[in-house]
Amino acid sequence: MKYQAPRGVKDLLPPESEAFRRLEDEIRETFTLSGFREVRLPIFESAALFTRSIGESTDIVEKEMYLFEGKGGEKLALRPEGTASLLRAAIEHRLAEPGRTSRLFYQGAMFRHERPQAGRLRQFHQAGAEVLGPNDPDTDADLIATVSRYAQRTGIPGSRLLLNSMGCEACRPEYRKQLVAYLEARKSNLCETCIRRIGTNPLRVLDCKVEGCQKTLNAAPAITSFLCPASREHFERVCQALNEGEIPYILSPRLVRGLDYYTETAFEWVSDALGAQSTWAAGGRYNGLVSSLGGPDVPGVGLAIGIERLYLLREQAGTLPLSAEPPVTIALHPLDDDSRAYIRTILTTLRAEGISCVGLFGANRLKKAFVSAEREGARFIGLAGENERGNGTITIKDLKTGAQKTVPAGSSAELISLLRSEIPADSAR
Ligand SMILES: [Zn+2]
Ligand SMILES: [Zn+2]
Repeated sequence: MKYQAPRGVKDLLPPESEAFRRLEDEIRETFTLSGFREVRLPIFESAALFTRSIGESTDIVEKEMYLFEGKGGEKLALRPEGTASLLRAAIEHRLAEPGRTSRLFYQGAMFRHERPQAGRLRQFHQAGAEVLGPNDPDTDADLIATVSRYAQRTGIPGSRLLLNSMGCEACRPEYRKQLVAYLEARKSNLCETCIRRIGTNPLRVLDCKVEGCQKTLNAAPAITSFLCPASREHFERVCQALNEGEIPYILSPRLVRGLDYYTETAFEWVSDALGAQSTWAAGGRYNGLVSSLGGPDVPGVGLAIGIERLYLLREQAGTLPLSAEPPVTIALHPLDDDSRAYIRTILTTLRAEGISCVGLFGANRLKKAFVSAEREGARFIGLAGENERGNGTITIKDLKTGAQKTVPAGSSAELISLLRSEIPADSAR
């Protein structure tokens, strides 16, 4: 019986797993510097939470959610995204309260039953940040700037910020009416999905990627022509704050979020460095979402970053945060059975000093020990036999320079400082 990972699921192995973790650490640090604090969310939730927040007429809820039943018959779902879970937690634990600002972030695996042939993973990773409380344009701009500056600093190739306003409950209904009228009159130029969405979720029609629909959609009325004075002012102040912060953006009047609770600012970071234009981060203001999930009337703004996408972009640009350190500093090999205990003592001492080390207890020949040390990715190999044991020393070979030196073992400063540098090639043998 041979087991394999399920379709659309990827094992992350070293050294990719290490670069992936560093990428997540970078994001965590970026959010932390902007005042966000982490929430660890459950992997599964009540399915109704996502139906309510993401909307029944979206692909995610219609086709892509992993649904299952709990023992008591309750309908559960693996989380397909993080915002709904985070808001559920914020409401439940009273972090979403009028007059209070909560800056929260999450990070972790999300699950969607996507078609793997499209290169999409069924278990993928996102990091997201949400600001609950304030409803001012500066909060939007500050959140956007946090991610744009991260992109600039770390070198995400071809990254561009797209920006739009979704209006509010006062001005969007009129826009929606005009959009539906426009689309209804041009049904014959649209694909089946578009036609279906005119009735269920007309704003999402603008998301259609089918080439035949593009011409019609590009000429569709833009929401920015329908903004009420308050929405217009909010949007202008976001743009102004970004201008003042020298954060470049591209006004994209057809960038929409297809859900009613999205209001005002919408944004997306895209890049075409991986071929077709793809989104690596996206977000927006959602003033109606907290209350639609049963919470108080608290506005919010947030975004999510696709970690796999980010990884690929950074990999392509050669800017992945790879470690310069070897995975293991030293591999220790006992030259005879009597030296095993001696090696174990040195391992304990070195680990207490913060030096990563392994014992090559399985290798019974010196040649095999060298092969194993290399496989471990060790920088040095340490050898101890009768002589070393007798003198309280260890013989260390620098696997990079090839030089070798015998030094006192134990907590000797000489040993520690040697392992933190290298043995010069001309050093005494
Ligand atoms: Zn408005
Ligand atoms: Zn279409």
